[in-house]
Amino acid sequence: MFEIDIHTHQVKNEVSIGILNIFAQDLPFLNDKLYYSAGLHPWHIGLVNPEECLESIELTISKENMLAIGECGLDRSITDDFAIQEFYFRKQIEIAKKSSKPLIIHCVRAFPELMKIKKETKSEIPWIIHGFHGNQQTALQLMKHNFYFSVGKKLLSDQRKNDILKLLPAERLFLETDDSNGSISEIYSLAAQKLNMSHEDLAAIVLKNFKHLFGFEKLPILI
Ligand SMILES: [Zn+2]
Repeated sequence: MFEIDIHTHQVKNEVSIGILNIFAQDLPFLNDKLYYSAGLHPWHIGLVNPEECLESIELTISKENMLAIGECGLDRSITDDFAIQEFYFRKQIEIAKKSSKPLIIHCVRAFPELMKIKKETKSEIPWIIHGFHGNQQTALQLMKHNFYFSVGKKLLSDQRKNDILKLLPAERLFLETDDSNGSISEIYSLAAQKLNMSHEDLAAIVLKNFKHLFGFEKLPILI
């Protein structure tokens, strides 16, 4: 059984397949034994040289084990200028489009803008919202715009949001540990329980989604 951790900040030994998050300012990532994504996080724009970060992403984009761009996105909970966040997010969408690699998105209180940008950029690449823990209305709107959802502890441990997971289309679902120390197995168990399905069936669904988005057959086998 393969358990896929679509977004993690730590290398975890027990994971069958994990996409390690690398912040663009920490590129180049020289380990070719791990899958990773790289992006300029909205929290970091004011702290790093953003242009240099974009260049680093461009330089790493052709690496076979670099599977996605991100995390990148929009965040209204921070004081950093929103227009600047949007500028650098759009730049990363362009890189993702050019390379036909999916986006792993960090979005806080900016879903209307995110949907607007997706519509405007008419992108065919998959947009995966990581750490999704929004409400029903947001989930329904995002579904209409064909987003993918990656869910972790935040949603799964929130009793008020028990119904949200069931609402998300199975063929658009991923699971993640993000920056927590917990295991991805634990996340699969929690999610399987809420979905009333077996751990194995859930793993099969997520693996199918992963194969579909990342062309698993074409990927270098690192395990
Ligand atoms: Zn993260």
